[in-house]
Amino acid sequence: MLLQKQILVTGGAGFLGSHLCERLLAEGANVICVDNFFTGTRLNVEHMLPDPRFEVIRHDVTFPLYLEVNEIYNLACPASPIHYQRDPVQTTKTTVHGAINMLGLAKRIKATILQASTSEVYGDPLVHPQREDYWGNVNPIGVRSCYDEAKRCAETLFFDYWRQHSLAIKVARIFNTYGPRMHPNDGRVVSNFVVQALLGRDITIYGDGRQTRAFCYVDDLIDGLIRLMAAPKTVTGPVNLGNPGEFAILDLAKMVLELSNSRSRIVHRPLPEDDPKQRQPDISLAGELLDWAPRTALKDGLVPTISYFDKLLGDEKVRASLLAGAS
Ligand code: NAD
Ligand code: UDP
Ligand code: UDP
Repeated sequence: MLLQKQILVTGGAGFLGSHLCERLLAEGANVICVDNFFTGTRLNVEHMLPDPRFEVIRHDVTFPLYLEVNEIYNLACPASPIHYQRDPVQTTKTTVHGAINMLGLAKRIKATILQASTSEVYGDPLVHPQREDYWGNVNPIGVRSCYDEAKRCAETLFFDYWRQHSLAIKVARIFNTYGPRMHPNDGRVVSNFVVQALLGRDITIYGDGRQTRAFCYVDDLIDGLIRLMAAPKTVTGPVNLGNPGEFAILDLAKMVLELSNSRSRIVHRPLPEDDPKQRQPDISLAGELLDWAPRTALKDGLVPTISYFDKLLGDEKVRASLLAGAS
């Protein structure tokens, strides 16, 4: 019998995972962070290391893992298009084999398990905004498929373990989330624009910039994940978690330029293959089941995000590696 709550966070050294570990420790849990440091970094978790309730294990979730915990948050997976497309076979393995191993672990120890799924399961959506009962419009053989289809398969596995083994599952469909500790070089739009603006480099808009996304601040998202885990066993999801405020990418660029007092120019680059034209969550289900809604407006979340990157770029080594990099 475990006296204090033991929680496993896979992908715990990444952007979302590190914020989640922090929140769980603040709430009094013991936290085990499992990560293979593919896109995550020790820097994201080193401030938690002195806490005796925090532990980091270097491990790849495509291999079996034997631990005793009460709850599992399964976040391990590269999330940005350039990272998940770098080794697409590994992306599918991480998502699918990783899900099987973590579900097998949860089954053996009777833990509740939460899957970090994604709005990408809706693909390039033909229904707008996206509700959980929309089945999506996903290209099964394109460059984004290793991520989109693997995340869809992971959802299937979660629901089959639930049906077949009565496992306590939670599936969160996370929409674009941003904030401090995003990887400065991962090519996602918020980190790209902020870094470009701070370095005075051109702001690269892919296509005409009229495609839309809805951006959720990290603290709001973490709050949603924790509420979902705490919800009764009957609440399995899938539940959309995101901020319904929808913005054209061009407007995001203008906002970042204004808030960072940057004089960078806006330039246009070709649109990547299968880039969804629009995306906006319908979050009424999360409101109903979890009494959750995001509280941070885009401008308010961009301010601490810009400050974080400003400080990061003050480090000569980080700056040099970014200037040497492609983005
Ligand atoms: P991230 O890349 O910062 O974090 C992912 C973490 O998983 C990294 O620390 C990485 O090293 C680790 N990892 C990758 N492969 C692994 C493996 N085989 N074994 C162990 N660890 C591994 O990305 P993030 O934005 O923090 O995303 C976390 C999760 O949330 C992902 O599952 C992602 O699909 C999901 N998600 C994120 C967003 C978003 O906007 N940030 C949106 C939708 C879904
Ligand atoms: N597994 C694990 N840790 C555990 C239990 C299982 O990593 O504590 C992995 C193991 O690799 C197994 C997978 O989870 O292959 C699926 O487990 P399950 O019990 O569902 O299936 P089976 O063992 O019958 O393949
Ligand atoms: N994007 C852009 N410039 C960049 C990076 C991204 O215009 O430097 C666009 C991208 O084409 C997409 C949107 O911004 O339409 C969001 O991209 P991101 O990679 O952040 O997330 P996703 O496409 O997975 O939602």
